[in-house]
Amino acid sequence: MYNDGLHARQEARAAGLPYLTDAELSARLTAVKATPERAWLGDVSAVVLQQALADLNAAYRNFFASVTGRRKGPKVAPPRFRSRKDRRQAIRFTANARFSITPSGKLRLPKIGDVPVRWSRGLPSAPSSVSVIIDAAGRYFASFVVEQAPGLLPEVQSVIGIDLGLTHFAVPSDGRKVASPRFLRRAEKKLRRAQQALSRKQKGSRNRDKARVRVARAHARATDARRDFHHRLSTALIRENQAIAVEDLAVKGLARTRMARSIHDAGWSAFVDMLEYKAGLRGRTFRRIGRFEPTSQVCSACGDKDGPKPLRVREWTCPSCGTTHDRDVNAAVNIAKAAGLAVTACRAQVRPGGIPAQRRHGRLPAGDHQHPGGRRAARPGRRDDCLPALD
Ligand SMILES: [Zn+2]
Repeated sequence: MYNDGLHARQEARAAGLPYLTDAELSARLTAVKATPERAWLGDVSAVVLQQALADLNAAYRNFFASVTGRRKGPKVAPPRFRSRKDRRQAIRFTANARFSITPSGKLRLPKIGDVPVRWSRGLPSAPSSVSVIIDAAGRYFASFVVEQAPGLLPEVQSVIGIDLGLTHFAVPSDGRKVASPRFLRRAEKKLRRAQQALSRKQKGSRNRDKARVRVARAHARATDARRDFHHRLSTALIRENQAIAVEDLAVKGLARTRMARSIHDAGWSAFVDMLEYKAGLRGRTFRRIGRFEPTSQVCSACGDKDGPKPLRVREWTCPSCGTTHDRDVNAAVNIAKAAGLAVTACRAQVRPGGIPAQRRHGRLPAGDHQHPGGRRAARPGRRDDCLPALD
């Protein structure tokens, strides 16, 4: 459907005809369904076909908005043909399709039937649509769109700055250091092994195909483990702190370049995005700071600038005030200060200045799995008790 629609519009354009409207396209493709070559389209719910067209229309709208400058951000390319060989495929059912969840917890899909589901979490409200996705590792997912009230968290006093640590995943200014959890390191190690095994297999061999599937699975597992870790950590940090500041990596990347770092850079930006939207949903303040001031060179206690320090210097004593600093924790405190959030190391106290992060009303981003209640309710004031066990 998507490709047929794209083809129809491309042909119209090539013939110098006006842009086919959504309604025209829909009518044309309904007619096509009656032809013997496309009779098999009747095997799936009509809603799935309409939704494929809706995706095409959205792709065109984004493209036009990007061309005319109404859409900010990176340029959007015109829609491209999709391939049945794509490793990830998805279909979407809306309420019109009358999908339902049976009393026994199965997902009832039109023209497919009752599908057993392993539920990762309960649905907070009746879903308005469901996407059924098969990923590159051959796993099926059902992703629901639900309405959920943002649910503001009770106000707390603490304010925190977070540094992307050199040896740790993140270093909050309260002096704690958060390493990647063991389950994630193990998944990443398995992925590396699978990739090495694949590289040794002969091209075109059946063993190479098998190895490729193993890599895809290991990849999926590592990605899931990483996302899970990011969700748990970001949820805990949002719950514990009224205001959070992080460094903008785009700026930071120029300042410090190092192999180990670039490996988890991608993870860092996904994590920071989670902090931002969760802050918006929960009524917390979130700031990104550009790094114009070298945060690791300045004493967070007295503001003295001690000059650059090589990466191997993990700890240093300020020559002016005599405070001994952990490099990363000091940087985290400076990040919070630069964002206009006054903090003291160890026990962050002092109210956040400025405006709370933009509230995004309504839905969570698609494909997101937040744990609103958390596995463990955090009690404000008991920091050591706040982070869920990650290791
Ligand atoms: Zn000092």
